[in-house]
Amino acid sequence: MQQVSARRDERLLLRGARVADGRGLRHERADLLVDGGRILAIDPGGIPEDAPALRGARIVELAGLTLVPGLMNAHAHITLDGSPDPGATLAAETPAETAIRSARRLREVVESGVTTIRDVGAVGGIDIALRAMVERDEILGPRMLTCGKVITMTGGHGHWMGVECDGPDEVRKGVRGQIKAGATAIKLMATGGMMTPNQRAGAPQLTEAEMAAAVEEAHKADRVVAAHVESDDGGRNAVRAGVDSVEHGHGMGAETIALMLERGTFLDPTILSDRAILEGGTELGIPDYVVEKCRALSETLLRTLEIAFARGVPIAAGNDGGAPLVHIGDMVSELEIYGELGMHPRDALAAATINDARLFRLPEVGYVEPGWAADLIAVRGDPLARISALRDPEVVILRGALVLDRRVADGFRVPRAAGA
Ligand SMILES: [Zn+2]
Repeated sequence: MQQVSARRDERLLLRGARVADGRGLRHERADLLVDGGRILAIDPGGIPEDAPALRGARIVELAGLTLVPGLMNAHAHITLDGSPDPGATLAAETPAETAIRSARRLREVVESGVTTIRDVGAVGGIDIALRAMVERDEILGPRMLTCGKVITMTGGHGHWMGVECDGPDEVRKGVRGQIKAGATAIKLMATGGMMTPNQRAGAPQLTEAEMAAAVEEAHKADRVVAAHVESDDGGRNAVRAGVDSVEHGHGMGAETIALMLERGTFLDPTILSDRAILEGGTELGIPDYVVEKCRALSETLLRTLEIAFARGVPIAAGNDGGAPLVHIGDMVSELEIYGELGMHPRDALAAATINDARLFRLPEVGYVEPGWAADLIAVRGDPLARISALRDPEVVILRGALVLDRRVADGFRVPRAAGA
């Protein structure tokens, strides 16, 4: 059995790949040299095997595969398990179980070809701890932005994984507290939500003034701000307050969407989550109140997307992984729905790569370009013609390390430091 070790310091020659990214087809065939976590060179003419730069390089044959940037997920909840009732799982498991299962999920995310996630609400600081462990190569996981606890009003959406704050000063303190705890992004609840009982999804919650205070604190510390939005009122409050992305966006009207364009606000639709709830239904064990609220609202998200796609609002793709029946690694299903709504596969690929990277303010991640991060996946088929081709990549390269090659028996290994 061939061993594949995920070594970051290993030089890789990726040979004969078709190369594409969110700009479209880059090369019909090229060799790429990867070292130190970055793409050093791309040569459509082919790099000769005796070139000095190749000394000691591992050769990865990619002929017949298309190499694209690793996918990103702008809306994930690593401490939720994606079962029909994730809140019930969370309430039933011990904090230790939650942490260990979350770490296991990180590995599945990478295996799916997702190399960057933003966690927008977790319990127990587990997201923050995992991010640090991934960065130290102690466990295998994607690049992460982590919000820690969500900032919500007293009794507001997600209070069971949040800091409850009322008034601009308390919100300011809440944001500062999460940054102190290690959050690298901030999540605000602009409206009620489906997953919290006894409240109307879409009812305005944090006020514009409260969110403006949060945005000011977050931006001072270079943290991007996401706002949960399920109505036009809530969306307007959030966009006026200066958030960087609107999450979900049910019921947002043309005026609010025009304001997003003016302000450069991203839309992260997470439409897969609505579809999974409606398809799964109460029969599979999704709580009644979640299904009822979703039934009442989901159409209004389709209308938001119609306007947003037509107007060209930047889409930053996330899927609400961890929510009922959605896995964090399943970005392809989210992108397939964008396709049903008329988005070109190239733009869908951009939404889940370069657009997310821009929202996250990650420099030099999200395109296949010399000097850029070597977060790459190789797939069969042509994702520029059919976005579904991105599902189950054959090869995953993360921070310049070959972490998965499905063509090799048992071809998946954790980094050296793990499992010691
Ligand atoms: Zn969410």
